[in-house]
Amino acid sequence: MGLRRCLISLFVAGLCAVVALVPAPPIAAGAGDPVGAYLDSVRNEPGLLAAFLRDMPKGADLHMHLSGATSTESLLRFAVADGRCIDAATLEAGEAPCHTGQRAAADTDRDPAFRDAVIAAWSMKGFTPGAESGHDHFFATFGKFDLAGDGHAGDMLAEVAARAVGQNEYYIEPLVTPGFAAAQALAQKVGYDADLAVLRNRMTAKGAMDRIVAGVSKDVDAAFNRMRAALRCRSGAEADAACDLPVRLDYQVLRAFPPEVVFAQMLLGFELMAKNRRFVGINLVQPEDDPVARRDYRLHMQMLAFLRGPYPKGRLTLHAGELTAALAPPEDLRFHIRDAVFVAGAERIGHGVDIAAEDGAADTLHAMAQSHVLVEIALTSNDQILGVKGAEHPFGLYRRSGVPVALVTDDEGVSRTDLTAQYQRAVTTYDLGYGDLKVMARAALQHGFLAGADLWRGPDDFQPGAECGKDRPGAPQPRTSACRALIRSSGKAKAEWDQEAGFARFERRYGG
Ligand SMILES: [Zn+2]
Repeated sequence: MGLRRCLISLFVAGLCAVVALVPAPPIAAGAGDPVGAYLDSVRNEPGLLAAFLRDMPKGADLHMHLSGATSTESLLRFAVADGRCIDAATLEAGEAPCHTGQRAAADTDRDPAFRDAVIAAWSMKGFTPGAESGHDHFFATFGKFDLAGDGHAGDMLAEVAARAVGQNEYYIEPLVTPGFAAAQALAQKVGYDADLAVLRNRMTAKGAMDRIVAGVSKDVDAAFNRMRAALRCRSGAEADAACDLPVRLDYQVLRAFPPEVVFAQMLLGFELMAKNRRFVGINLVQPEDDPVARRDYRLHMQMLAFLRGPYPKGRLTLHAGELTAALAPPEDLRFHIRDAVFVAGAERIGHGVDIAAEDGAADTLHAMAQSHVLVEIALTSNDQILGVKGAEHPFGLYRRSGVPVALVTDDEGVSRTDLTAQYQRAVTTYDLGYGDLKVMARAALQHGFLAGADLWRGPDDFQPGAECGKDRPGAPQPRTSACRALIRSSGKAKAEWDQEAGFARFERRYGG
């Protein structure tokens, strides 16, 4: 019963007024909150602040590229175990047997200087911009270590899941690109047609796309089985806590390819979302300033808008506005985020760094706030790739505009960072309080594409919805049958409930 109705009925039944006047359970920490006070007391003590933020529930990591999130040391370990070779000059991983100019990856175990050089080439470790920019070094790492990750998707999933749980995350949504070669081959066979309905029909004819979907599903099932084996999920008490972490995938489309190849990948992504519950979203990757990506940006948005017709349940998050004037011509800084939101209908935006330079930025920000389009904020990545940080970053602009935001890592391995470090950077750079952090953690889970009804009353409205309205999020278990039924039926509501229980434990620890 709402407060207003209770006040009307106050004269009829006193009981109702008593219920209405009982304070609601604390949802957001206020200025006088002891946990907020603790945060303020360690704000300038990096070690204690890091420990506090590691322990704090942080919702979800909604933007992590699986291979880029894997630690460079793990990728190198895979390369050694698989007998790979590494080009002595470019440091790019290659197939065995090693030819002239290549060394065995195993040499990194015997030659520390070689090992250091490979790790520096495959990550941002020790990188300082010079002849090579941060942007170029960052994106070049993927081509160098790509082969090392081949056949290790399950190990990589296990690593990122364990790391997420270790930092008190309740959900992750890694980005992956399975089936690229098959989609590319189909596209090359079919060719391009500007009539996208015709193009889709050609690509789905005679079960061609179905076969790719089936192949990807088989591979992804195998990867998840490997992940569960690596986490010892069948070993009872020995099982890693990450076995219970919900993990879903976003299908990432490589956008620096010809239109027919991009369309085939998008189609594969939407088909996977319709047929495989592990795939929950689509994204576009590769540098946004790539000449082909820039040339075809509007076309890509139209393709996505078209595909949302036959696949209305498909979810969309887009790298958009990961640009600066140093990287792209002025005309490309004027519309990418706007078109991602208004043409493609993106539900989340990755990066969104150049928003202030766009035409009609105020209208776009207003629409994003009204429609609850969340921005995935990648502070370390934006610093390393774009050189954008501090007051130059639109993090504050989005928050002031009422646009929901969530901190993300982008590439924990390449960047040698984690989600805790993103929170630490946000606290120290933007002077955030505990309540601000809590809102971001809740927003990250709520805006994740994990299926199921929401615990909360509405988007970015973190009061319990009807099912759990008489319950107290933060308790270990719901008391009411309606809330128990919601938690049982919805993976998302369960993750949100679990996070609230985590907040209660955390606040007892740091607020006592
Ligand atoms: Zn990214």
